[in-house]
Amino acid sequence: MARAPARLLLGGPLAQAILATVATEASLYRESHGHPPALAVVVCGHEAPSMVYLRQILRGCEKVGLDGRLVEIEGEDPERGLIDALRGLGEDPTVAGIIVQMPLPQTVRLRPVVEAIDPAKDIDGIHPLNAGLVRLGYDGFVPATAHATLEILKGHGIEIAGREAVVVGRSTVVGMPVAFLLVRENATVTVCHSKTRDLRRHVRGAEIVVVAAGHPGLVTGDMLRRGAVVVDVGINAVDGRLVGDVDFPSAERVASAITPVPGGVGPLTNALLLAHLMRAARRQAEARGAGATARSDIGAVVPTIPSLTRGGS
Ligand code: NAD
Repeated sequence: MARAPARLLLGGPLAQAILATVATEASLYRESHGHPPALAVVVCGHEAPSMVYLRQILRGCEKVGLDGRLVEIEGEDPERGLIDALRGLGEDPTVAGIIVQMPLPQTVRLRPVVEAIDPAKDIDGIHPLNAGLVRLGYDGFVPATAHATLEILKGHGIEIAGREAVVVGRSTVVGMPVAFLLVRENATVTVCHSKTRDLRRHVRGAEIVVVAAGHPGLVTGDMLRRGAVVVDVGINAVDGRLVGDVDFPSAERVASAITPVPGGVGPLTNALLLAHLMRAARRQAEARGAGATARSDIGAVVPTIPSLTRGGS
């Protein structure tokens, strides 16, 4: 008997709903403060592949009435230049959020750069303070991609609690925060990485598979358990096309639901980043006592990351 094809977990419609609310909030903010919140996108070296992504973010800002600013670091000492620029942006009250192009040039140390970001403006959750707050169950910024991975599951009504999940990848910006968020949603989580001995065996046992490894086609349909839900975070350029870390044609024949690449986690990541920016702007205005910003109900479409239930262990 022919099997129904896997359900496509699209990020676009979820992203549109979030962006519509962000646009409303941005306009209310502008009315209250005389200017929209600004997002500073700090780049050091134009040729990096991430420029494509950063330009998308800047275009996204424009579409929803936010002020996206490209801050380019040049000069002899890029680390000093980056740190000085980040400190200046931290003190600029019109700038509500800051993201820094990654990876940094080889000559620039990551830690002093990350620590120069004002944690209140660190909307992609790379500062140790935010990582720690989230890890301890307090309110803090979580990396947008990890947030999007969780929201694409929840937004499509995929049950997480009690299920066996495998996360392939253990980076600080994707794999580890995703694993942590899934645990917080009460999944039982295994993290696989480049030194995992038998990836196939782990993936085979999973009801939810999240892949963030940066290797095109790493997970194939024959590795999956029938009916698995697959979230492909990977973005790889192969022969001029964007593909994920999952071999889509074989995986969709086995999975019950799967994210496409492009069109899955990517658009939701961008939308959530701007939702994080609005949240940062609102909080900073409140902290400055600059008057409460009239607000729409962004919480209804952008759930904040839930804390561990009290007594949960
Ligand atoms: P990374 O290189 O920092 O980490 C990759 C991880 O994959 C590592 O932990 C490594 O141990 C693991 N890995 C590598 N080869 C493996 C193998 N053969 N088996 C098991 N694990 C293996 O990458 P990252 O920044 O976490 O990004 C991962 C992917 O997600 C990339 O394709 C990146 O382009 C993509 N990405 C997408 C978004 C988005 O918005 N959709 C955002 C960020 C990154």
